[in-house]
Amino acid sequence: MVIKPKIRGFICTNAHPVGCEASVLEQIEYVKSQGSVDCPKNVLVIGCSTGYGLASRITAAFGAGANTLGVCFEKEPSERKTATAGWYNTAAFHKAAKQANLYCKTLNGDAFSDAMKAQVIDLIKQDLGTVDAVIYSLASPRRTDPKTGETYNSQLKPIGKQYTTKTFDTSKEIVHEVTLDPATQDDIDNTVKVMGGEDWELWMQALSEAGVLAKGCTTTAYTYIGKELTWPIYGHATIGKAKEDLDRAAAMINQQYQELDVSAYVSSLKAVVTQASSAIPVMPLYISLMFKVMKEEGCHEGVIEQIYGLFNNLLFAQDPQLDEAKRLRMDTVETRDEIQEKIKQRWAVVNSENFSELGDYTGYHLDFLKLFGFGFESVDYEQDVSPLAEWV
Ligand code: NAD
Repeated sequence: MVIKPKIRGFICTNAHPVGCEASVLEQIEYVKSQGSVDCPKNVLVIGCSTGYGLASRITAAFGAGANTLGVCFEKEPSERKTATAGWYNTAAFHKAAKQANLYCKTLNGDAFSDAMKAQVIDLIKQDLGTVDAVIYSLASPRRTDPKTGETYNSQLKPIGKQYTTKTFDTSKEIVHEVTLDPATQDDIDNTVKVMGGEDWELWMQALSEAGVLAKGCTTTAYTYIGKELTWPIYGHATIGKAKEDLDRAAAMINQQYQELDVSAYVSSLKAVVTQASSAIPVMPLYISLMFKVMKEEGCHEGVIEQIYGLFNNLLFAQDPQLDEAKRLRMDTVETRDEIQEKIKQRWAVVNSENFSELGDYTGYHLDFLKLFGFGFESVDYEQDVSPLAEWV
């Protein structure tokens, strides 16, 4: 079939297998061009198929020759329907890893479940013995608690009072005002339940109890902190509360697995275009303005540059520099006062007419298309391609 993007609101409902492969290969090439990374050899990546998790897997494998075991939640293709992008990314990753003689296996299913944790543990015992790095990179709108069977939905809402702000509607391509109602306590609690640290702790507990955590294991979960422009809808909102809970979880993990010498960190990364961030109101506008400013300043970075930098300079370093909340910070350029001031100046005056001049929506949109394998110059999108792809 000939596959063209089918965009509905903030998501694209199909994906291009050849384009997804181009995206994975581009990231692999970047890592190889930067040189080797001192990263452990047996790496578990939870949320391995897109965004920051995929970049983590690529950096570990192609920067350090690591064996990678991945967990993700993706839809496989059929004769008539494409798979999700994460499925094709994983197929492309497996192909490239096998060609490079690198061990990789991926389990597809609900990472929040006990069953998935048990499957991963069996596979570690069978193939690797232990893991010495656990990367926790899930982004999900809901989670079923494995103990109670209750399903929780996360909410993207401000806390305390209604919040009116500018946003960019990516389907109508207009800048307009949006008013977001404040969260209830239930909204906050549910969001913490989904995106907070509980599941990360359950993973570490399960892995440790099964004896598959190597001594000196490093683990990280990813966060976004941001600044004033995004605080009302992110940092100080429901999702920010969930992210604060990661700090609590990191402290607990460090304390609980002292005998194993486990190091747990929350790593703060910069805002980038991923399937998760495009669903957050305000983010497409903020990211477009921020891209324009950071590209003009010559300091733009995407997922792979961020993760390569994190792995190479901070996560596996002896005594990495931590912030006041003991987090690793890869977002220090984005959050720098001069950069934020320039974004704020544009934010104050941006409207539908001047948006393409003040913001880099072209760059934002291209990154968005690339998430689904579209927009690559090397790919002929008029070609008939099979939607079928396997994880070799
Ligand atoms: P993403 O949507 O690209 O990736 C999410 C991953 O989680 C995918 O591999 C998906 O298959 C997997 N997943 C989702 N639900 C699952 C489930 N139930 N079981 C198994 N796998 C599941 O998201 P992303 O933007 O890369 O986010 C990853 C982490 O990075 C999140 O914690 C996010 O908050 C953080 N982060 C993102 C940004 C950003 O701008 N995108 C910035 C800083 C931090």
